[in-house]
Order: sequence, then structure tokens, then C-alpha cells
Amino acid sequence: MGMINHINYMDQDGHIYCCLRNKVVKLDEQQKEKFCKGCSMFAGTAEGKGVECLWEDARTANDPWIADDPRREFLKNQIRHVGGHYVSSIIGFCG
Ligand code: SF4
Repeated sequence: MGMINHINYMDQDGHIYCCLRNKVVKLDEQQKEKFCKGCSMFAGTAEGKGVECLWEDARTANDPWIADDPRREFLKNQIRHVGGHYVSSIIGFCG
């Protein structure tokens, strides 16, 4: 499983999916200063259109991974592939 650069584009309301917090958040100054600034996954600003986050992702080999719908990205990250079965989880597992 390799490190994948996740390009999280902001939606029309300025929200992105944050892997560290495992939730959809507004990419405002508070998020940037309080979380992204010190986050080991931070990999860039998507040319000012969002945030890039680097973490191992079992879902895909696509690098970069484009996430332009934060809510869909959140839901996709709640599913783990375990022993041939898809299992839902509310526990964060990235980073
Ligand atoms: S860099 Fe870290 S804190 Fe910022 S959005 Fe990505 S995972 Fe979340």
C-alpha cells in the first residue's frame, strides 16, 4: 500500500474532507492554523483550491486521488475492506 496524494478540492461552501479529523470541515483559517499547519499529512494547497493530504490509502492506486465532493469522500472513508467483506466503521483509520 503506497502513499497517495489526495487532492481535496473545496466544494461551493468551502468544505473539504479532513482525514486527520475524519470529518467534513470548512477549510478556513482556523482549520489551516489549528490542524493543517502541524499535520504530517499536509502536502500542499491544491493551487489555492483546497488542500492536499498524503496518506496510505487501501482504496486506490490512483495517485493523485481527486476528491471534489467532501461528503462522498467522507462516506467512502467509512468503509473498510476486511476479509472479502465491506465493513462500515466510524473510526478514523488514515494517517
Ligand atoms: S492536511 Fe491534515 S489536517 Fe489538513 S485537511 Fe489534510 S488531513 Fe486534515
